[in-house]
Amino acid sequence: MNRLPRIAIVGAGPGGLTLARLLHVRGIGCTVFERDEHALARPQGGTLDLHEDSGLLALERAGLTAGFQAIARYEDQGTRLIDKAGRLLFEEQDATSGNRPEVDRTALRELLLGALPAGCVRWGCAPQQARPLDDGTWTLAFDHGIEGPFDLVVGADGAWSRLRPLLSRYQPQYSGLTFVEFGIDDADNAHPAVAQLVGRGKLSVEADGRALIVQRNGRAHLRGYAIFRVPADWAERRFDFTSPSRVRQGLLEEFAGFAPQIRALFEASNDSFVPRPIVALPVGHHWVHRRGLTLLGDAAHVMSPFGGEGVNNAMRDALELAHRLAGNADDDAAVIAYEMQMFERIEASAAQAAEAAATQLSHDGQALTLETYRGHAASRAVEPGFA
Ligand SMILES: Cc1cc2nc3c(=O)[nH]c(=O)nc-3n(C[C@H](O)[C@H](O)[C@H](O)COP(=O)(O)OP(=O)(O)OC[C@H]3O[C@@H](n4cnc5c(N)ncnc54)[C@H](O)[C@@H]3O)c2cc1C
Repeated sequence: MNRLPRIAIVGAGPGGLTLARLLHVRGIGCTVFERDEHALARPQGGTLDLHEDSGLLALERAGLTAGFQAIARYEDQGTRLIDKAGRLLFEEQDATSGNRPEVDRTALRELLLGALPAGCVRWGCAPQQARPLDDGTWTLAFDHGIEGPFDLVVGADGAWSRLRPLLSRYQPQYSGLTFVEFGIDDADNAHPAVAQLVGRGKLSVEADGRALIVQRNGRAHLRGYAIFRVPADWAERRFDFTSPSRVRQGLLEEFAGFAPQIRALFEASNDSFVPRPIVALPVGHHWVHRRGLTLLGDAAHVMSPFGGEGVNNAMRDALELAHRLAGNADDDAAVIAYEMQMFERIEASAAQAAEAAATQLSHDGQALTLETYRGHAASRAVEPGFA
């Protein structure tokens, strides 16, 4: 093909925006259609650690390393494991020494958005339908009308992708784990004891069939997840999410056997509690190639967050797809090559995430976590667990 492909990306998450930027630096334009009304329409979630061979590599190829350095938090890479009495079981000695810098999701989104040409992202645009035309191109139907034709539509629209059913009959399945997310604002000033308990990075504790993971974010914000192995609708029945004080009370009851300094995390929490049932596509999820349509990121391979690879995988997908589209005169061959490589590349991290989810809150979950942390500290190769 001599002309540049006309590309639509559905979803302005880390995967979709990284792809848009990588295409842009290679001289290929695209339009990103995003359901959110604007960039700050909803909180983007907590801190992430980016990895050298995926998230960081994609940013480097996107020419954004300097911008990233300005928002990266190298100082918050610590890991701490305590028991339910609050005794320290494991701690990374130096929270600043790792090569997996933390970054807040909102800051990452801002960085990527700021590096795109004006008008590239169309906010408040969720396609109702994608339709193939006889010549292999696609159109997208929106409330405001039909857009296209596009030579390639990329579904980067997350775990509940609207485009995935056009390629795959699989839907994400509930993993058996539900997180209840909570936040603590201005921890250093307002809740110094809690801030000290969490330290510079991530704190974990697991006992009595419950677990807690709390992560330090930018601006002294702490984001925590109370983790339960329960039926998918349990949290909605157990906690009245219309009443923050009742959720807080319910969490204090659920963690009644834990030390007061751990339960103080709930007492310090703000009023934002969100249930997050954890879902995953099957390990090895793939589809038969269809001309003009593909997926990346969670749309292609949502997995439990315990491997800390979700955003990193999405950004690596973007890198691989952009690289092939730029280097191949045949768009369809480029997409086939991307899909083949992606299916193979993702399988190991999907299997790891599934195993990590399966061992969370198992009878010896804490011992396994401790073993994993020690092993990773010894090898210094991989950040342990939930990143
Ligand atoms: C509790 C929790 C903690 C996590 N922690 C980590 C972590 O520490 N590290 C890590 O790497 N990963 C983590 N993950 C996983 C990570 O969030 C995802 O893997 C990552 O966000 C996937 O990026 P994405 O761009 O593919 O999709 P998303 O981030 O889901 O972005 C999809 C975008 O598409 C938009 N969209 C959706 N539907 C439509 C539509 N129909 N039309 C238009 N736009 C649409 C959405 O609004 C969104 O902007 C965590 C996940 C969870 C649930």
